[in-house]
Amino acid sequence: MRISYSRYSTYRHCPQQYKLQYVDRIPTPRAVVLEFGTAMHSALRLMHDPSRIRVPSVEELIDAFAKAWNPVPPEGVEADWGLWFEEGTKILQRYHGEHAEREEGRHTIDTERFFNLPLEGGHVLTGRMDRVDVIGDKRLEVIDYKTSRRMPPLTAVDQNAQLAIYRLAAGQLYPGFEVTTTLFFVLLGQRIQTSQDEQFVKETKDDILDALTSIELEEFEPRLGGHCDWCAFRSHCPFFRAPVEPEDLDVDIAAALRKYAEADVAGKKADTRKEEAKELINRYLDQCQAERVEKSGYVAERRTYKRVTRWDLERLREALSPLGRWEAVTQVNTTALRRLAESRDLPREARKAIEEAATYSESRQLRVRALTDDDDSEETG
Ligand code: SF4
Repeated sequence: MRISYSRYSTYRHCPQQYKLQYVDRIPTPRAVVLEFGTAMHSALRLMHDPSRIRVPSVEELIDAFAKAWNPVPPEGVEADWGLWFEEGTKILQRYHGEHAEREEGRHTIDTERFFNLPLEGGHVLTGRMDRVDVIGDKRLEVIDYKTSRRMPPLTAVDQNAQLAIYRLAAGQLYPGFEVTTTLFFVLLGQRIQTSQDEQFVKETKDDILDALTSIELEEFEPRLGGHCDWCAFRSHCPFFRAPVEPEDLDVDIAAALRKYAEADVAGKKADTRKEEAKELINRYLDQCQAERVEKSGYVAERRTYKRVTRWDLERLREALSPLGRWEAVTQVNTTALRRLAESRDLPREARKAIEEAATYSESRQLRVRALTDDDDSEETG
């Protein structure tokens, strides 16, 4: 399977978003920041193109930016689209002023260098490095342009998986160099160089392999959080999309929600009614392939939880004994074992073995409540 950094990072951000974007191929709306970044990258590629004898003029740079610019504004930014273009040209003028003179002892050997990195299990990691510079005889700097307006803290950059991937790729494409990686914030004219160690690079590679295994197993659980408010796929996500009612739908969802809410208020004596209503709501959600429904002033939300019901002790012993970790397991404790399975100081195979030694059961929890002003979506169904 082929995976790029952006796909891997989408999967880690929210597996369900990965599914909607790359498996179901739901088209993404045009993103202003992305389009601006793409046009800037085109101009910067020309600026540092190693096949050119002379540095391009500022007019040539702006021309490259203009050619990559889509004059039709994305929806919602019609009034500002021209301002974005103007800002781009100003930044490029400044950039040209600061970088037209080549730095002594440094030369660019590649721009937008594509790579295909073979991984274990026949997988391939793909990507593109914005710029590769050689400094002196032995040093190589991989530069990644960023068009964001804020710089992350250094600690976050040291844990940047994208840069770790570039280190891996550069080590393979340009052997014999000491590799450093840099984020260059074009809008701010600032750079951050990283000092990621080999261990972090290895962990990133292992984590990509873990993500690939989960993708192959079609593990696409939604990861709910504040980021859902900005998710471009929200209207397609099972937690937020309007349920699509099939023709043979046999549940009156408004009545079921009312029944549940009334039984909930009545307390213990209405337990049977509540169970009946719950069954109806679950049936409705199953039939509509949704996890959320709003109707008649109520909202029902369903979550699925995975729980370990049994551990295979023999498999655990086989995986942990050779590492000297079995003796530490005085009692099979699910929390401790899950923590161990996530710990980076265990080899990937051992972490996988722990996961596989468990038998899981899934339970679903349904919550019904009255709609509030915070529920911004319209009634569904
Ligand atoms: S809305 Fe949230 S849970 Fe749903 S796909 Fe987007 S990020 Fe994931």
